[in-house]
Amino acid sequence: MPLIIKDEYPEVLFRKDGKRLDGRDVDELRPIKMDVGIIKNADGSAYLEWGNNKIFAAVYGPREVHPHHLAKPDKGILRVFYRMATFSVFDRKRPAPGRREKEISMIVADCIEPVLFLELYPGTSFEVFIEVMDADGGTRCASTTVAALALADAGVPMKSLVSAIAVGKIDGKRVVDLSGIEDKAGEADLPIAITWYNEEVSLLQFDGDMDLNEMNEFLVLAKDALNKIHQIQLDTLKSKYVKLQEEISKENVEIENKGDS
Ligand code: UDP
Repeated sequence: MPLIIKDEYPEVLFRKDGKRLDGRDVDELRPIKMDVGIIKNADGSAYLEWGNNKIFAAVYGPREVHPHHLAKPDKGILRVFYRMATFSVFDRKRPAPGRREKEISMIVADCIEPVLFLELYPGTSFEVFIEVMDADGGTRCASTTVAALALADAGVPMKSLVSAIAVGKIDGKRVVDLSGIEDKAGEADLPIAITWYNEEVSLLQFDGDMDLNEMNEFLVLAKDALNKIHQIQLDTLKSKYVKLQEEISKENVEIENKGDS
């Protein structure tokens, strides 16, 4: 059953002042906050708040593959498990993984795999567990973004990060970063992911109605948003190392002081 019954969709998705219903301009992202290293039992982890979306990602690996028959003798494998908590949406979500969760798990793995050096890890796996605690549109893009960040936090060698964004059309206007209601009531939805080392599109899905020229305009709109998301990912990773450096310097001073006394 959908989160919002069709009859309950708002008739218009723009306010009289030209802003979207949540007060954003057409090219404005929802507020984004990221953090890394928040799950102590994982090899790497990240947390993302993106508008009302709240998502954790935990990385384990390289480690033995279970079940064994999935292991590949010539390379490692990346396995992604995307799950939405039962309380993450307006209607209670069934706890068993549904078709959508399996599809999103596969998509996220496919768009992150190109940045990994899996050939260096034969017979092993990297596993990324994504838990959506609160969902409000664009969770596949947010999950891709936070999963890449968690892999980087785990110290997994990567050619670059991966960032993702959904652009789309609502009330005939092109917008970035569709919220849940815009995703459902709008005319088109286009999730896009980019691998930064070669600036190639590693995910392009499409739901709705648009022509090829329009698609190009969407890609231009997405690029600007993707740059902003990438910068937040980089800043989050840098701040982890700045903090670490400060702690090490503090410890060194303490050791020196103890040595002097
Ligand atoms: N959603 C929901 N119930 C579900 C699945 C999704 O309410 O069982 C909502 C959720 O807010 C999600 C949005 O619908 O973010 C859009 O879902 P879609 O399948 O388009 O994926 P997403 O936009 O999250 O990548």
